[in-house]
Amino acid sequence: MAPQFKEVKIPQGDLIQVQDGKLVVGDHPVIGTLRGDGIGLDITPAMQAVVNAAVQKAYGGKKAIAWCPLYAGLEGLHHYGTEFPEETVEAIKYLKVAIKGPFTTPIGEETHVCLYCAHQQNHPGKCDKCGKEDGVTPRFRSINVRFRQALDLYACVRPVRYFEGVPAPNKYANKVNFIIFRENTEDVYAGHDFERGSDVATAIIELVRQKTGRQIRLDSGIGVKPISLFGSKRLVRKALRWAVQQRLPSVTLVHKGNIMKFTEGSFCKWGYEVAAEEFGDVTITEKKLWEELGGKMPEGKVLVKDRIADSIFQQIQTRPDEYSVLAVPNLNGDYLSDAAIALVGGLGLGPGANMSDDYAMFEATHGTAPKYTGLDKVNPGSLILSAVMMLEHLGWSEAARLIIGGMERAIQAGVVTYDLARLMKAEGRPGVREVSCSGFGQAIIERM
Ligand code: NAD
Repeated sequence: MAPQFKEVKIPQGDLIQVQDGKLVVGDHPVIGTLRGDGIGLDITPAMQAVVNAAVQKAYGGKKAIAWCPLYAGLEGLHHYGTEFPEETVEAIKYLKVAIKGPFTTPIGEETHVCLYCAHQQNHPGKCDKCGKEDGVTPRFRSINVRFRQALDLYACVRPVRYFEGVPAPNKYANKVNFIIFRENTEDVYAGHDFERGSDVATAIIELVRQKTGRQIRLDSGIGVKPISLFGSKRLVRKALRWAVQQRLPSVTLVHKGNIMKFTEGSFCKWGYEVAAEEFGDVTITEKKLWEELGGKMPEGKVLVKDRIADSIFQQIQTRPDEYSVLAVPNLNGDYLSDAAIALVGGLGLGPGANMSDDYAMFEATHGTAPKYTGLDKVNPGSLILSAVMMLEHLGWSEAARLIIGGMERAIQAGVVTYDLARLMKAEGRPGVREVSCSGFGQAIIERM
């Protein structure tokens, strides 16, 4: 039975279903849409305009997205009196797929934060910075992290691709086009981090000494790095499934197993196991490729290989075109995602998604940039490319390709927002035309 929502109005359309791990998508899928705080206000309508135009052009009116507004952050506060409403989580579970802008996260020590301008202060009521009366709320834990936990979004997915014309530091930037699947719930991020001298840190040091005879300095802080068979296999399974569905050439298991044999090393081992057990008919290992097939890649198969984490940081710079899908544990995945996006010219255009087996949330990867809110100025590229991922996830790759093409041509023509315009002009590129946030969306639409 459909849940009763208080604020959420489900529009006419088809509810997305998950059957045997596969998405069942009608012609009018209902997609949860969270505008986010700050510049979410600007980039969300720009993204929707681009997606609507691409879908219209690709399917001639047969298909369309039914956008369903959901509320968190400032809008959560206004609709429900809390920045993280339970109803929003329930609605995402019901709809299965959502796309969101950025959310304010309090980082300072102050007791209150303003969700209009991210200013932090030690009292409720009016914001000392922007003067707004209805945006100040007690400090809270990251909304993004709470969504991840509430929906068990265990895979952080980051595509990294170069757009011709974007000033990028790397000579081979034009060969970059891969997607990183970072495990999101385990590793040293799982929160088992214990202060020097604490009961737990002291007890662990003593336990290690007793059980193994190995010494850890008594004045050490202790972090525990859990990497499970369950967590590793589901992450690699997701990466493999993506590679197979999107017909990509390879999946690389990235690990530091030469040093951390039973965590990172096991991640790699379990990854190969999933490939053999569940994707044996569509994958081939690098070992087999060279030992049995003389390096001749069979048609239609996904190559499964592994690389030590430190070498992958070199390889994505020197031979990026050898990588297509990368499956990585949490800590190295964090480093790798940021390093990779820098290769192609910075965070501005980097899209992302967080996924579980049942739910997928596509998101802009930058923050709320409050000083630009409502100015129709910032670059909507990150959210638009996240929407491209969403379309691919829905199986609407024709519409996804139209957007990529439109964006490529807009950037090549030098029709870009201020951030890229500034970089292009600094490189001495002629004919750069700075446009607004919505103007960039329009430029993409015109060039699809
Ligand atoms: P930010 O990403 O919001 O902004 C830093 C600077 O980057 C901006 O001043 C602007 O110059 C530039 N910028 C960001 N997005 C841009 C875009 N789309 N186009 C052009 N330029 C862009 O980072 P911040 O100022 O450190 O954080 C502001 C707020 O956002 C904080 O509350 C922070 O916690 C939050 N945040 C949220 C997310 C998220 O929801 N995913 C991510 C990062 C930061």
